[in-house]
Formats: sequence, structure tokens, C-alpha cells
Amino acid sequence: MKSAKLIVCGFVLLCASALLPTARAQNSSPRRIVIAASVVFDGKGHVMRNTRIVVEGSKIVAIDPKAGPVDYDLRGLTVLPGWIDAHVHITWIFGKDGKNAGQGGISPEATYAAAANAYATLLAGFTTAQSIGSSADIILRDAIAGRTLPGPRILTSADPLVGRGPQTGTPDEIRAYIRKQKEAGADVIKIFASQSIRQGGAMTLSAEQLNAACDEARKLGLRTVVHAYKDAVRVATLAGCTQIEHGTLATDDDLKLMAEKGTYLDPQAGLVIENYLLNKNKYLGTPGYTEEGFAAMQKVLSLNHELVQRASQIRGLKIVFGTDAVAGSHGHNAEEFIDRVRDGKVDPMTAMVSANSLGAEAMGLQNQIGTIAPGFQADIIALAGDPLKDITAVRRVVFVMKGGVVYKNVSRR
Ligand SMILES: [Zn+2]
Repeated sequence: MKSAKLIVCGFVLLCASALLPTARAQNSSPRRIVIAASVVFDGKGHVMRNTRIVVEGSKIVAIDPKAGPVDYDLRGLTVLPGWIDAHVHITWIFGKDGKNAGQGGISPEATYAAAANAYATLLAGFTTAQSIGSSADIILRDAIAGRTLPGPRILTSADPLVGRGPQTGTPDEIRAYIRKQKEAGADVIKIFASQSIRQGGAMTLSAEQLNAACDEARKLGLRTVVHAYKDAVRVATLAGCTQIEHGTLATDDDLKLMAEKGTYLDPQAGLVIENYLLNKNKYLGTPGYTEEGFAAMQKVLSLNHELVQRASQIRGLKIVFGTDAVAGSHGHNAEEFIDRVRDGKVDPMTAMVSANSLGAEAMGLQNQIGTIAPGFQADIIALAGDPLKDITAVRRVVFVMKGGVVYKNVSRR
């Protein structure tokens, strides 16, 4: 056993620190923290009142109104599980010249900027983020998991499968590519099955290619999230892929099929496009961002509002929360809640659940995060205000705990 452990250590960068908590646990029990709250959303759509949440180590161990002494008094605030963003690009930054530098840079500047994105995302109340599109996410994910950096728990895809028609490869070549991402440390597989909507959104993978990608991932125990518009939504759903990103121009029949198959939908009601428009001078002229593309965005924004409104009416369709956060929007992820409620006509509690228990379920983490109940990770945030009455309360995150560690507490300033 001992020699096996040493061999493993040779390959695990954070081995020494990973062993520390075990050594400590043998000597003392984990610290107990009691949080008092007057309003607690459980993450599944229910509200608990005047209670106390007991945390030991990284987990919630009890909900007990009589527990004490109180370490954090969050009465007067809205307490809920840390939010889950299903779609970010955490390493996407503006470069030294202030222009869009894309994602995946590993220069010292890019690395620090990515770490700052992660910290901003955490302080905005997002304790878990699925970053889909760059293998540089892996080192950031591991640094945060090893507690060397503050940030949300990250799940990532490593490199995505980018559809390029027949050039993408044969089904066997696609299967080999998916296996390579698993070996690289992917938690999920990202697939681009459509062009950018700014270029028309045509399909870039055939049904046969999508079947191969999603089937191989499933065999490896990995989920698949597919960037898809129009026809690609139906094809990816029929291919048994786990989740559709964007979904713009999907028909009601496509959405009903998704509901039947249990395919998750992750639409964007506004933040990603609002951020592009706000930072137009930083994006324009960089790869993929033209005047024509910007002209199309306004139209896409109304199509997206319409999609969220329509999708919300489809019985049984599981709609998760994802922002597609790129440079400029990290730490502003909660704006998407406001867009969903204001422009997508989504009920505020449904919007909260989409980023809590439902978001966790879509990641296969429904027994670990997204709910305030004994046995779950102590990912707990508090808002100044009631998002059910005023959705802009999501901008006022005053307390953030992730895995039992408090990263922000400005509630009593
Ligand atoms: Zn994206």
C-alpha cells in the first residue's frame, strides 16, 4: 500500500497538501460552523424559515433551528445554495492591449487574468462553473481543487470537438478524439455541431458524426454538451447527447423531443450578447468578430428572448442556467438571471432552481451540490434582498461559502 501511494504521489502535483487534511482529521474533528438564517431557499424550490444550518468540514450536517452558538448571522438576507453556471469560458480574457485575447492563454499575464476571472466568479456567488472550451482550464481547475487558489469548483471539457463537416473525421477518428479528451482529464465533452449564429448557425457535424461523439462519451461515462442551433438541436437530441447549449431557432417540436428524451437545454437570455455589445471596441476586429457579426447580434438577442419564453412553456423540459461568460462578463454571471426573468419571462424561483438542484442534476452532482440539506457540500450564499420580489437582488451577494470555507462576508458592514 505504502509503495503504491508513493508511486501515485510522483504523478500528483498537490499530493503533499492533499495528504494534510487526512493527517489533521486523525487528531481533531472538523470545525463546526452554525449559520442563522430567516429565509433559506433549499435549491429545489422550497423555502425554509427561521432556521440554522450546521456545517462540519466541507459539508452541511444538519438543519436545526436550535443549533448554536451562531458563527454567522445571516438573518434578514436570502440564503441559498451557491449557484452553478453550466457554461463559462473561465480563461477567456482581454489582453495587454485591452483587446479580446480569447481563451486558453498560458502566459503569466493570461494565467493571472484567468485566476482573477475565477475569483470574481466565486465572489459573485457561483461556487461551481462548467468551463467548456479550453485545455488551459485543467490547470486552473486543479489549482482551485487543491485550495491553492480561490475560485468556483470547475468542471471542464479540455479541448472541444469542433465540427468541420467531413474534415472533422470519420466516426472512428471522432471516437479516438473523445477518448483523448478523457485521458487529458475532461469532466465533460464539448461539441460544436453548428457554426456561430452570427454566421448563420448551419450544421457542422453529420448525424453519424454526432452519434459517434456522444456514444463514445457515454461509454466512457462522460456527459456531452453540444453547441447547437436550428436543425442541430434535433440531431444532437436524437444522438443521445446530454445537453444542448444555446438552442436558438429550435422549433417547439425540437423542444418537445428534448423534454421526452430528458435532454437538458442551456439557453442564454442576454448576458453574453449584452457583454459583446458593451465591449464592442474590445472585440471588433479580433478573430470572429466583424461589423456584420455585431449587426446580427441585436437580432439574435431577440431570438434568444423568444427561445427562453417558448422553452419555458414546454412541459417537462429541463432548462439549466448557463451564461457563456467570456472576457468582460466574469463576475457578472448573475445578470443572466435578470435577463431570464425580465426578458425570458421565467419565474424567479425557477431561475434560482435552474442554477441550483437542476444545474447539479445536469452535471450528475445532484447528491453533492445545489441543495441545502444534510450531506451536501456546504456551498452557501446570501443575497441582500429577496430575488422573488426583485430579481436584481442577485447582484447583491454579501456572503459566499464554498465547501465550508467562507470567501466573502460583507453582510454586517
Ligand atoms: Zn461558449
